[in-house]
Amino acid sequence: MYRIRITGDPALHTRALEVLAIDDYIRELVADMFETMDAAPGVGLAATQIGVGLRIFVYSYSTDDEEIRGVAINPQLSISEFSDEPLDEEADAEGCLSIPGERFPLKRANRALLMATDLEGQGYQIEAEGWLARIFQHEFDHLEGMLYADRLVRPHKRLMKKAIKENEWGIPALSWLPGEDYLEP
Ligand code: ZN
Repeated sequence: MYRIRITGDPALHTRALEVLAIDDYIRELVADMFETMDAAPGVGLAATQIGVGLRIFVYSYSTDDEEIRGVAINPQLSISEFSDEPLDEEADAEGCLSIPGERFPLKRANRALLMATDLEGQGYQIEAEGWLARIFQHEFDHLEGMLYADRLVRPHKRLMKKAIKENEWGIPALSWLPGEDYLEP
């Protein structure tokens, strides 16, 4: 289990580097990432969130008829155009384990094509829609050193700044341990 870094930690705001070889270190890291994501609990976790600057994220997404769970190593992401529909405060609300307990709405592309390498070193791709497409965009952003907070628009951008300030986040070296410090709502 890893501690999850909170916004302000440099690891979250730095572009992650390519994974050069899938070795025992990477296999153990990915297993620990799944464990940390499940304990949080969350639907996705990027390596940068546990202070590891490598291009890896894990995801776990269930609907009534399927469970999509996997690891994306050195991912690439293509996204569709954004719809013209207005921002929906409920349906578009997004959260992040590195900004625990907060949720703000954000427009995302409705469709995304993820191309990545799995733990066996095999390339794969997934065409995602809706919430899964959102998860992929959110996690991919993490590997670019970007949080969803960086993409918010008015008035949510200001409200997020206020929330970060009130929580006394936004400085290096803050983190939380799933199961101990915070309970996600
Ligand atoms: Zn996040």
